[in-house]
Amino acid sequence: MPLATAYIALGSNLGDRLGQMQTALDRLTQQSVVVQQISPVYENRAVGMGVADPFLNATAAIKTSLAPLALLDLCLDVEGQLGRRRSRQWAPRTIDLDIIAYAELELSTDRLRLPHPRIEERDFVLHPLRDIAPDLTIRGRRVADLAAELPMDALTRCGFSLHAPRV
Ligand code: ADP
Ligand code: MG
Repeated sequence: MPLATAYIALGSNLGDRLGQMQTALDRLTQQSVVVQQISPVYENRAVGMGVADPFLNATAAIKTSLAPLALLDLCLDVEGQLGRRRSRQWAPRTIDLDIIAYAELELSTDRLRLPHPRIEERDFVLHPLRDIAPDLTIRGRRVADLAAELPMDALTRCGFSLHAPRV
């Protein structure tokens, strides 16, 4: 299978947030997934979804030979390895791995929607995505333009960084 470029959003608001994000990148990396680029890490102190614990958020560009559903299965598997339990929606999570986009693919199935349906309303996805992929288009709009239209609300660059695992 040819290599596709895909973008992953990482988020954590429970436990060793930065450590878990790095471990998730390490575990995603294998013969079929190579991390190409990682955004700076942001902290999101948004309130309102019943969550008091601030998130760390970042995005990564990968090259992969996995098909979209196989990539989703890998993400869910890594979430499980990191102790993520799905209790209720918006529950604090050790790690959340969402596929933001996979090549130019548009897909809407029960298990997987691409590009991810809520990108345009999430400053914590758009701003770190703008850092690594300003020219990417999501549903016909450039990421840089979408980010400019959605100013950072409770989001700051926190100065932490993640590194691309060696293959
Ligand atoms: P959320 O990320 O919205 O907080 P979850 O992480 O619990 O919610 O994901 C719930 C389900 O969303 C996953 O099991 C997966 O099947 C589905 N899903 C649909 N599209 C995507 C996508 N682009 N990336 C990741 N998960 C997705
Ligand atoms: Mg998710």
